[in-house]
Amino acid sequence: MQASGRLHLGNLMGALQNWVKLQDKYDCYYFVADWHALTTGYANPSAIKESTKDLLINFLAAGLDPDKCTIFIQSRVLEHAELHLLLSMITPLSWLERVPTYKEKQQELKDRDLSTYGFLGYPLLQTADIIIYRAKYVPVGVDQIPHLEVTREIARRFNYLYKEVFPEPEALLTEFPRVPGIDGRKMSKSYDNAIYLSESPKEVEQKLRTMMTDPARVKRTDPGEPELSPVFQLHKIFSSKEEQEEVAHGCRTAGIGCIDCKKILIKNVFKVMEPIWAKRNELINNADVLDDIVDKGTGKAKKEAEETMRLVREAMGLYLQ
Ligand code: ADP
Repeated sequence: MQASGRLHLGNLMGALQNWVKLQDKYDCYYFVADWHALTTGYANPSAIKESTKDLLINFLAAGLDPDKCTIFIQSRVLEHAELHLLLSMITPLSWLERVPTYKEKQQELKDRDLSTYGFLGYPLLQTADIIIYRAKYVPVGVDQIPHLEVTREIARRFNYLYKEVFPEPEALLTEFPRVPGIDGRKMSKSYDNAIYLSESPKEVEQKLRTMMTDPARVKRTDPGEPELSPVFQLHKIFSSKEEQEEVAHGCRTAGIGCIDCKKILIKNVFKVMEPIWAKRNELINNADVLDDIVDKGTGKAKKEAEETMRLVREAMGLYLQ
């Protein structure tokens, strides 16, 4: 996860909760990609440190267990950079230029100058991040498939040119809910519509209370169409089937008002967030624990990465005899 902002409910429900499940089944490596944040955020690097801390706290608060998985910070395992450099020698420019997100993101972030070498190389750094652990699977959404295809091609090219070192990683595809933000668009830190895990119960309640509903339902007595309301989209993610039916029926018949409907949603969002808030508070007041966990995870990741780099240098003939 990139250190380019605070963690929000979309990241939690769309990615992090799935990571928590996977830690029981696989030997998982989860890290804060702070170098990646520089590819688009190089002009304001001071924000990265704060974001890194927020992500780490939330990883743990959401249930990642350092005894079950490896949690670390990308920039502390320098081998990622070495592999990125070596892979850059064998990667044709056209493979990177044709990745769809390259042009899309440049369009989206027009206010930044992204005609940089680092930004073009983003999928290559991501490749190094993955194959340095000789990973078999990467838990991603469909939007990441083109990136993973580049990763597979580069691993294949390395194996063909030098020696079979890397497995070709496969996507571990899961259906993720697409969490809407308070304005109905996809929840994203870029749209100013997100609910952050670091916000207080009061702030979260306030955001949900003032959230957009079916625009056609002006008066309390007007019937509404739940499918047109982002509040209902959140009910689908956070509320039970019975509650969803209750609010949908109440909305269509004007049996309940939008405030009542939101009260049920607030209760259910709080159910998910309360244990996270409690653990966040524990961790914020206990910085040493956080440091120890990251040190231990980084040490384990580094050992694995060093072993891969020994194989890589050997395969490329980079050791002096
Ligand atoms: P943002 O859109 O806020 O910049 P990122 O692109 O950093 O979020 O996403 C990090 C992870 O969270 C990715 O796995 C992404 O698919 C997931 N994610 C982000 N926003 C949402 C959302 N609204 N609903 C579901 N998953 C999301």
